[in-house]
Amino acid sequence: MRLKRSIIIWIGLFFTFFIIPDTIYADKAVVMTDQLNIRGGPGTDFDIIGQANTTDIFPIISEQNDWVEIELDDQTGWVLTEYITIEQEAEEQPAISQQTTEQTTKSESIIIQYDHTQLREGPSTDEKITQFVDKGAKFKVVSEDDDWYEISGDDVSGYVSKQLVKTDPPTTPTGLKNKTIVIDAGHGGKDVGAIGATGVYEKDVVDLTAKQLEQELGMLGANVLITRPEDKFISLGSRIAFSNVMETDAFISIHYNSVPELPSVSGIETYYYSEQNKRLANEIQQEIIKETEANSRGTAQGDFAVLRQNFKPAILIELGFISNPDDEALLGTTAYQQKIVSGIANGLRKYFSN
Ligand SMILES: [Zn+2]
Repeated sequence: MRLKRSIIIWIGLFFTFFIIPDTIYADKAVVMTDQLNIRGGPGTDFDIIGQANTTDIFPIISEQNDWVEIELDDQTGWVLTEYITIEQEAEEQPAISQQTTEQTTKSESIIIQYDHTQLREGPSTDEKITQFVDKGAKFKVVSEDDDWYEISGDDVSGYVSKQLVKTDPPTTPTGLKNKTIVIDAGHGGKDVGAIGATGVYEKDVVDLTAKQLEQELGMLGANVLITRPEDKFISLGSRIAFSNVMETDAFISIHYNSVPELPSVSGIETYYYSEQNKRLANEIQQEIIKETEANSRGTAQGDFAVLRQNFKPAILIELGFISNPDDEALLGTTAYQQKIVSGIANGLRKYFSN
């Protein structure tokens, strides 16, 4: 009796050991096109039994010539190898678990996992395909929802399914962890600020920057506060008091410039009031110019109330001229705003690491 039972246990162990790894390491088919026909057998003569779309994933049961047999809910089907990418589940697993853990922290950039990956106009397979990118390409994440990343890079922007990419581990948030950064979004409410070439309000462009900067600095571990979180009038006094009352490590006032009588004027400049904030201004100005390649109008001492009455390290940045029609258009794009906020973030990291 005892012998028999142990044999059964050994047989059980044998199967557990050899069968389970086999299913874990099974290959998977990642569909790379829309409306891919699934057939009853390995050839176009077989009946179409279903269809699959981009990013659908199926376990592979077998392969035959140009066809792979995939596991469907209650049967199996065949698809052409040409329209799928074969991935080993073992490779895929860490990527998936990484994705779930990073959903809470948000990833800074992603790496494309397959050649000929489709980018789309919007976050859905119903959206038009705008371009293709290859395996290994790395892009910045502009925004994300549960299933899609909006990405941008040189000459590339669009939406990519989260199933086709791997998140790039966020760069170590050196320098900004536990730093309190106050973003002072200039103007607001009845105070629209300067008015752009086509009538854009400074306060609205400032909002674009403030929101994107808040996200960027948050990802780098900073504690981010905004003096004007919504489109409301906030007095200069309240902005200053806010900075002075908080544990502010840096106060960044965001503005855009305008000289309507000289519409060709362009460029970025950063102001400080006290000498001890000159380095903060320099680091940030330098890094913004590096990222945006905009004309640098340098740094200067500026007698602005939000700087003069601020007890905390404070600067004011004029991030471009909305009176310049080209700049006004450029400043409205997420891609260019990303360059601005990356520059500000890099400048802050340099400032705090010295
Ligand atoms: Zn302003």
